[in-house]
Formats: sequence, structure tokens, C-alpha cells
Amino acid sequence: MPALLGCIADDFTGATDLAGTLVRAGMRTVQMIGIPEADTVSADVDAIVIALKSRTAPTAQAVAESLQSLKWLQAAGCCQFVFKICSTFDSTDKGNIGPVSEALLTALDSDFAMVCPAFPRNARRVYQGYLFVGDGLLSESGMEQHPLTPMTDPNLVRVLDRQTQGSVGLLPYDTIKRGAAAVTAACEHLRVEGTSLVIADTLAEDDLEVLATAASDHALVVGASGIATGLAGNFHCRGLLGHAAVAGQLTIPVGQGAVLAGSCSQTTREQVAQAAAHYPAIKLDPVQLAKDEDAVADVLVQAQEYLAAGPVLIYSSSEPKILQATQNKLGAARAAAVVEAAMAHLAQGLVAAGVTRLVVAGGETSGAVVKALDIHGLRIGTEIDPGVPWTLSLNNPAIGLVLKSGNFGSKDFFLRVFEDPP
Ligand code: ADP
Repeated sequence: MPALLGCIADDFTGATDLAGTLVRAGMRTVQMIGIPEADTVSADVDAIVIALKSRTAPTAQAVAESLQSLKWLQAAGCCQFVFKICSTFDSTDKGNIGPVSEALLTALDSDFAMVCPAFPRNARRVYQGYLFVGDGLLSESGMEQHPLTPMTDPNLVRVLDRQTQGSVGLLPYDTIKRGAAAVTAACEHLRVEGTSLVIADTLAEDDLEVLATAASDHALVVGASGIATGLAGNFHCRGLLGHAAVAGQLTIPVGQGAVLAGSCSQTTREQVAQAAAHYPAIKLDPVQLAKDEDAVADVLVQAQEYLAAGPVLIYSSSEPKILQATQNKLGAARAAAVVEAAMAHLAQGLVAAGVTRLVVAGGETSGAVVKALDIHGLRIGTEIDPGVPWTLSLNNPAIGLVLKSGNFGSKDFFLRVFEDPP
């Protein structure tokens, strides 16, 4: 059966978040990294999330990449589409939420979409079109100082209106409280009046369910990952998700396990400390790596010796004082580049040496590893800790990967991750 739900996410971590939500909601999900080049998705998939980096890209580029992604998702059989945005509505007066949404609507030959940025579980709520983050308005949440997308206006109807050609409306809370039928009727009324995008008020998870139910026949839904649970529910109701119980099940080829930790966050440093007390650990010194061409190869040889007995940890994670000293010596950009190049090389070497379970800590570090291993897509498994699932690359042969943002995971994460792998 072809895929059902096609999602276009405007950044990588947003895509991962959405993919995890879909798996929890019972959809077998793959996450593609950038616009896929070929028909790489297998048949047994319910949802596909394409991770773009379009949030702060020039608007024309964001629109073009989103349209290309849509085409690919349509060819994969998807019948409903989500444009995944950040729950803090990260954008500027130029876009890219408005222009991308309008372009997707046109391409889908549709003229109306709900915009549901709320994520009550993460304390993002919308009332009368105003976005609240925790107890305060978006414009007092710190987001007003964001370096690329400063959110100084908390009224999302106004914000989106400035980004769009068409008319932007509001689905007020009173309507949502009256249930899905009332929302459907209100949407139809707004659509007939010429409104093309509506910001939906949302205070609680139940409200998202109501919105998703009302959107079950909509070609496009714009929103944060919260709306995805209800959209998956619509497919359940139609009896289209027979594999819900095993949505996150992966089969990772048997092989060795390794951790590459390039994050210097406190969480990762604590995880490194715990793991290093239990299995072999090799620390990378960026200064040494910068001056000795053979240093990475030496690390790899040592790692291969350790691997025969079990998992190995290779890390560059350093406490702030040491990190600062390294950056003073090499410059911050060069230090980061040296470490990322080493991690990329090590990932290739470890996989060639038989590692099939690779855990990577750090967002940039993960990016470098994914690129080095030429990974275009990941099947998403169940979560080990919140926001951190096992994944299976769509490469041939496939490997198991955990791509962990620096701050994620419990202190014993690097131990638990290998205890009961899929
Ligand atoms: P996080 O998710 O915690 O932000 P990232 O991998 O995104 O982790 O960022 C960490 C950055 O720090 C990477 O660019 C990495 O190459 C760099 N880095 C890691 N270890 C060191 C080190 N010891 N000295 C200097 N830079 C380092």
C-alpha cells in the first residue's frame, strides 16, 4: 500500500520531532534528509517526513524546495500533506510560512488550510490568535531576540497576514469548543468568504484532536508536530493503519556498537563519564588532530581492537575550560571543523569495521556523520528516551543509528542504548 501522509518539515530537528510523534501515533514512518533523489522508500511505510533546511532560506528557495518535496511525496502515493513549522512560528515578514503554505495550496489545487502551531504538551498555546509560550506571550518569551527569526508580534493572524498574498483568518476558541462539526462548518464559511489560511486557537491536546478531525479531508494542514497525533488518528478511524502496533519496530543487522560523542553539553559530558566507567573510551584531542594527519587513523586502529570485546566510545566532549583553551589555540571554527572531520572519518571506518549500531551525540556532529555515511533517509523506531529513537538507515546495507541532540537522554543513555537494541 502506498504512503498516506506526506510531510514537509522546515528544519531537521522539527522533522525528527514530527516523525517520532507519528510513530507514537501508530504510523510506520521514514524521515528523508533533504529532497530525495530517487524512489528510495519501501512500500511498508504510512508516513514520510522530508527534512528541509528551509526555515531561514531565501523565500524563493524555500518555496521551490517545498514544491519539489510535495511532488515527490505525491509520487510516493501520499494523499494528505503537512507543512511542519516550529511551534514558535519562527519566520519573518518575508516568510517562509506564508509563501510556502500558499504555494503548496496552489500546487494541490486547494484553497484552504488550517494553521495549527500550538503544542500544549510543550506549553505552546494559541488564544484569539495570540501565541503563548508558557505563561507569557511569544514576544516576551525570548523569541523576540532570536538572531534569525525574531518574533516581536505575538498575534499570528497579523504575522501570517504580512507574509501572504491571500486573506488570513482566525478559528476562535469558542468554535473549537463546540467540536469538529462546528469547526468544519466554520472552515467552510471562511473558505467561501475567501479566507485561505486560518490560525486555529488551541489550549489543550483535546483541541488538537478536534482540529485534526475537522481537517481529515483537507489536502494540506500547516502546523507543529502536535497536530500529527490527530491526523494519524483519522487514518486509524478509516482502518488504514493495520500495522499500528509495530509502527516503531526495526530490525537492525547484528554487529558491533559504537558511540561518537561530539557534543560538549553537560548532559553529553555526564553520559560520557558514565559510559567511560563501563566500556573502552578514547578521547579525541582537537589540537593533536589538527597537527597530526595520522591521529584519526591511530584512533580507528585502537577502536577496532576494543570492538572485538563490545561497544566503544570515542568522544571529543570537553568541559568548558578545556574547550575554551582549545578554541583559543585553534579558533572555534577550526576546532569544530577538525572534530567534525574526524568524526566523519571515524564513522566511515567504524561501519567498515562491522559497526551496525552507531550512536552519535550532537546536532552538528550528527550532520557530519550522516553526510559521511551518505545517508539519505531513516526509518524511525520507538524512542529510547524522549526525542531520541533508534533509526535504521535506508542505505544498503542498513545500519542502526541514534542521532542525539547534545542535551537529550538520561545520564546512563550510552549504557542503556546497547542493553536492549532492536
Ligand atoms: P550540541 O548538540 O550539543 O550542540 P553539536 O555537535 O551540534 O552538539 O556541536 C558541538 C560542536 O563542538 C561541533 O561543531 C563539534 O565539532 C565541536 N567540538 C566538539 N568537541 C570539541 C572540542 N573538544 N573542542 C572544540 N570544539 C569541539
